[in-house]
Amino acid sequence: MICASIMPESEIDAIKLIRSCEESAKVIEIRLDLKPDIDLTYIANAINKPIIATCLTARDGGRFAGSLKQLNDTLLNAARHKIQYLTINHYLLGKFPFNKIPRGVKIIAAYHNPRSTPKSPGKIITEMARTKASVLKFASHANSFNDNLKLFGIRSKRPFIGLCMGENGVPSRILYKRFNSWLTFGHPADSQPSAEGQLSVKTLSEVYKADKINAKTRLYALFGKPVNHSAGPNLFNFQFEQQKMNAAYVPFQVNNAREIITAMKKFNIQGASITAPFKTTIIPYLDEVCRDSEVIGAVNTIVRRGNRLIGHNTDWAGFQIALLEDSAYEGLIGKKTPPTVLILGAGGAARAIIYALKELINPNIFVYNRTTEKARALVKRFKCNHVGIKGLKDLKPDIIVNATSAGMNLDNSLPIEAEFIPAGSYVFDAIYNPPETPLIKLAKEKNCRTQSGLNMFLFQAHHQLMLWGLK
Ligand code: NAP
Repeated sequence: MICASIMPESEIDAIKLIRSCEESAKVIEIRLDLKPDIDLTYIANAINKPIIATCLTARDGGRFAGSLKQLNDTLLNAARHKIQYLTINHYLLGKFPFNKIPRGVKIIAAYHNPRSTPKSPGKIITEMARTKASVLKFASHANSFNDNLKLFGIRSKRPFIGLCMGENGVPSRILYKRFNSWLTFGHPADSQPSAEGQLSVKTLSEVYKADKINAKTRLYALFGKPVNHSAGPNLFNFQFEQQKMNAAYVPFQVNNAREIITAMKKFNIQGASITAPFKTTIIPYLDEVCRDSEVIGAVNTIVRRGNRLIGHNTDWAGFQIALLEDSAYEGLIGKKTPPTVLILGAGGAARAIIYALKELINPNIFVYNRTTEKARALVKRFKCNHVGIKGLKDLKPDIIVNATSAGMNLDNSLPIEAEFIPAGSYVFDAIYNPPETPLIKLAKEKNCRTQSGLNMFLFQAHHQLMLWGLK
């Protein structure tokens, strides 16, 4: 089940937050950190959900600023209200007056570590199991994807809550049932997470359908760093819902390509999208790569065939179709053949885009990249031209394609100065978030025809679904 975790400053605040997510949350955790004396009975009377009362100090990753004695008193006071569960921090367990807890209030013995995941969570869990607690909770910060695995496979006779915090821990929150966890925490959509890496209740229930993920659910994944702002989960999970498939697409932030293979095996992942910076480094770990990926030198899709993992590339096809579907591009090509194209960037996307352009119109391609050596290696591979900053002024390209990350998400930077963008040229930005990057904005001001990376993203995703046999 999904538990909404809130850290209210008043009773009214608490009820407002609970009302905003009560349809999907079966239980409510009220964090007492900011208002230790909050009237839990008042809140319990106003809502019809079981309540877990929890109070965490900085040591636990929380914001309660009182002494240990005050923490103890806060928890004892909470137990006298109409709550069903009381979280007792593991370091209080030895001294906690369990005999003062009213009958009917169940104890959650909890270990919180906001810095790291210890080597053997099992030892700590066994220690907590020696108490009278009804539920055991282990929440620790994941510094790498592998930290999730320390909690994967833990079995407990009592209900167990096991999760990893931080961006690397997101799989343990979405796949909580696979982690034998009794519940997963989420925050109301219009309030801050109460712990790092926590997703909203809405995202857990509506995007991932976390409650419905069971042993039969086919898992698909997105691997990269970062991954948690990708549109992939919304898109693919929506597709699965439309097709009434018991499948889930889950983001995994990993530190290296080896972790991708580990995750594919551990979670029996059927297919995956690979994003920056692993599109090239994943290749040596795969059993086979298709011809397109081999020429491009980058893989953005993994397909599982039995035990074999096969690499494909759908970025190039996504770019090609996005271009062909754009009437502004068609008009431009009719005028001049072959056109001069300036590619900005020399990473995986740039390689796929050059491959697509060569297949389509074989234009005069020039590559400009922040790191010159990478641009030089790229032009050698694809037999095209390198252009340095000095050459940009005279180039006067017909088409400019941004295949760098400059301008992505909240980054306000431009991959190229305004003076290098000829008025009336065609500017394609592979970035789709935000839809209008600083480059696209500038190009529009110079009367250029523009296209964002959204269609490229949608078409490449469509190809991924086909490769996974889902379209
Ligand atoms: P990548 O392999 O990591 O390459 C990143 C490229 O961006 C490198 O050339 C890098 O230059 C350059 N770069 C990064 N930050 C920069 C900055 N602040 N200023 C100038 N250059 C910068 O990544 P990728 O997979 O090629 O992706 C590149 C972009 O394409 C991303 O924004 C990604 O979202 C987009 N993309 C979109 C789609 C789509 O479907 N729409 C598909 C794939 C990629 P250095 O070599 O100097 O580090």
